[in-house]
Amino acid sequence: MDLAIPLHAFIPSLNSVAVLMTYFLYLATAGSILPGKVVKGVVLQDGTRLRYRCNGLLLLVLLVALLGIGAQMDFVSPTVISDRGFELLSTTLMFGFLVTWVLFVTGCRSHNQGSSLKPHVTGNLLHDWWFGIQLNPQFMGIDLKFFFVRAGMMGWLLINLSVLAKSFQNGTLSQSMILYQLFCGLYILDYFVHEEYMTSTWDIIAERLGFMLVFGDLVWIPFTFSIQGWWLLHNKVELTTAAVVANCLVFLIGYLVFRGANRQKHIFKKNPKAHIWGKPPKVIGGKLLASGYWGVARHCNYLGDLLLALSFSLPCGISSPVPYFYPIYLLILLIWRERRDEVRCAEKYREIWAEYCRLVPWRILPYAY
Ligand code: NDP
Repeated sequence: MDLAIPLHAFIPSLNSVAVLMTYFLYLATAGSILPGKVVKGVVLQDGTRLRYRCNGLLLLVLLVALLGIGAQMDFVSPTVISDRGFELLSTTLMFGFLVTWVLFVTGCRSHNQGSSLKPHVTGNLLHDWWFGIQLNPQFMGIDLKFFFVRAGMMGWLLINLSVLAKSFQNGTLSQSMILYQLFCGLYILDYFVHEEYMTSTWDIIAERLGFMLVFGDLVWIPFTFSIQGWWLLHNKVELTTAAVVANCLVFLIGYLVFRGANRQKHIFKKNPKAHIWGKPPKVIGGKLLASGYWGVARHCNYLGDLLLALSFSLPCGISSPVPYFYPIYLLILLIWRERRDEVRCAEKYREIWAEYCRLVPWRILPYAY
């Protein structure tokens, strides 16, 4: 694989700016107009709750359909993203910088004006810009955090579809590429089917919107999670039937654990008496679920996500470490996040968290970690 990428490939053209802006415009307008379940977020410092319109699946299906029609009519090229991947990457990065500076300045301003949702300013310029100042910044009625993560997840699928079109065009479509596309496609579709679960995740309830999150959502998710697809465009892999079966099993188990754990927590938060695995739930202090996946390890959902990430890379074989970037990165991220979540939960739940830790001693992987 030739890794030498000419510098000029990164220089944004008007085309890449137009592609990106059209994408954001579509997400903003269609996201505000199209119907979807309206979900209430967590209670904010001032006692109010944000409302999230969970119409991501409809938005995604409509967008793919529109792009398909556009490609049929020769209006858009299905390979536009794979052809202009590097300049789209740098354009998105520049946009991310711009947005975070605007967020930083507006955050400082509303801090000085004593907003009721008081932004968090430490005074350390780099820290405040990187981690963000505002918890739930809005723009024209759009919750920016929810918007950016949606843009990133959809962007990941659009990149994958463009890479698929490219491999089709090149006549190099392989079993590995089909497996990779299938697993990622299902994961992303599933994300949008359960988009409302996102409203109670760490990113939405606890993380401020700074460069870290904007970069993570807009650049990191779509461009680095799709590395396997790019890699398969340039590399041929022969998989045995046993390897394909094992790969499908890793995906299936990962999915069951990931979705099962997140669903159990979501159901529990709505109705603490709802049965888990057919039995009344084991609850600690009336607030923490200690049965089902949450009785196996304190973050079984992370384990499921890690298995899924592994299943996206296995179609690439084991000849190169490059396609394993995503699961390795996710392992580091989720271990770090689990530690931060422990601190947050220990502070919030105090003795009942300590009791939960005694009852469920494993953090992510039972009998290992
Ligand atoms: P969780 O969904 O695990 O949320 C943690 C929160 O859940 C805690 O702060 C606490 O919040 C509550 N909680 C924890 N334990 C219990 C319990 N036993 N009973 C009831 N409530 C509990 O974490 P994340 O938001 O980080 O992750 C959500 C999903 O997103 C995961 O599946 C993760 O794998 C995935 N993810 C994927 C990433 C990627 O890059 N692919 C990156 C990050 C996450 P509260 O105060 O509400 O009780």
